[in-house]
Amino acid sequence: MRSVLQKLSNLPPLVTPSEIERLRHQLSLVQSNKAFLLHAGDCAESFEGCTAGNIEKKVGLILSFSLVLVWGGRKPVVRVGRIAGQYAKPRSSPKEKVKIKSENGEEIIKEVMSFRGDNVNGLDVNDREPDPERLLSAYFHSTTTLNYIRALLTSGFASLHGTHPRDWSLNHVRSDTLRKSFGKIIDGLSDALDFSHTIGATGSEAGGFERGAGRGPLGEVDFYVSHEGLMLGYEEALTREALIPGQPKQKASYNTSAHFIWIGDRTRQLDGAHVEYFRGIRNPIGIKVGPSMESDELVRLVGIVNPDKEPGRVTLITRYGAEKVEAHLPGHIKAIQESGHPVAWICDPMHGKYASFPAVVLLECVSQLRLTRKISYSTQTSPSGLKTRHFKSIITELTSTLAVHSRLNSDLGGVSLEFTGELNEEGYSVTECLGGSMELAEEELGLRYQSFCDPRLNFEQSLDLAFFSRITSNK
Ligand code: PEP
Ligand code: MN
Repeated sequence: MRSVLQKLSNLPPLVTPSEIERLRHQLSLVQSNKAFLLHAGDCAESFEGCTAGNIEKKVGLILSFSLVLVWGGRKPVVRVGRIAGQYAKPRSSPKEKVKIKSENGEEIIKEVMSFRGDNVNGLDVNDREPDPERLLSAYFHSTTTLNYIRALLTSGFASLHGTHPRDWSLNHVRSDTLRKSFGKIIDGLSDALDFSHTIGATGSEAGGFERGAGRGPLGEVDFYVSHEGLMLGYEEALTREALIPGQPKQKASYNTSAHFIWIGDRTRQLDGAHVEYFRGIRNPIGIKVGPSMESDELVRLVGIVNPDKEPGRVTLITRYGAEKVEAHLPGHIKAIQESGHPVAWICDPMHGKYASFPAVVLLECVSQLRLTRKISYSTQTSPSGLKTRHFKSIITELTSTLAVHSRLNSDLGGVSLEFTGELNEEGYSVTECLGGSMELAEEELGLRYQSFCDPRLNFEQSLDLAFFSRITSNK
């Protein structure tokens, strides 16, 4: 382990202090309601999923989504991908029971170490021993992902490929009324884009800070990368001391593995190692805020990581579950308001309680996953079955969160989503979340369930969400 961390600490940074400072500044604009934050991507990336096609689809979806938001909200959108480093997964339990098929075809239950993400161990049940070399592999996969994102964004990807609304098909939308409203949005958006092309105001296709503000850190549009700061050895090895750009002679520690990292809901203990690490870096950070967070604990936590109340530093990512928003969010908002701490509030409507589905559905889904992962004869499941999310509960959590903020004179500054534009080999979207305009049903979940972690909205469902935000803001 030591030699791996030593090696990592000598490798070049992935991102620079000036990019990090630029994001801090943009997040201070989110805090003052002058911009909106879109934080989105996979629950967890995999090494195997690091392909040109996947990266294009992921970045393309984030750009498309932000295009709708910019057009609907008339505000710049700060785009932060859960990408180029989102390999580690927090687990509630160190062990899990899996169902495997023995050589003679019999199903047996076995207890193994939980899968903790590609940078720790393997999804294959026979590869659960943690291997430090995986951290090096995580570094190189992150680097190559980021390199390709930078290359795409400096080559016209944002204005050319698949992010033009006229390319979005509405064939999946089952309801005629909905198809008509979505069609209107697409027309409005396309006309606005065509108009800006005509008058020569290009270069800001996906909307943002680009117009008149120079090029973004990764090319023609601003795009930042993030992951959960879970593996402290890795994070520390990529933490570098540097002069703060624009502040001569003042030095600070920057986590150079990503522009933005966040503390998960399971590792935010006030006296824990994660909070101690996050306290020491200058990057803008996120804190997941779940139903078990007490209001005074939240204020103390924000005080520890941002004692000087600096703008742009702290983003609170609330994730209570749709039915629990009313019980927790008002208290949290009031406590923060009284403390005078500047924060951006964003809503993660995807990590509250899940509905779970019978294991039998999972067996079918995973048999597909196995094919792509070349693990024959074995099937993995959790005793609770398949994780899914219903589109309705995602919309409900967002809507309740928005209502509470406006009631308390606070601003919802953004959203944190798990979605993917990934397609399977035949060009179909994944089927991991229920509902949406395609009305994905429970029995269809098994068709293309490809996530080995939390279920993600697919391309169509993600655009539904963006369109709904437009429809709601029109009311
Ligand atoms: C996640 O963002 O994938 C996650 C595990 O979130 P949380 O820490 O909020 O449960
Ligand atoms: Mn997740």
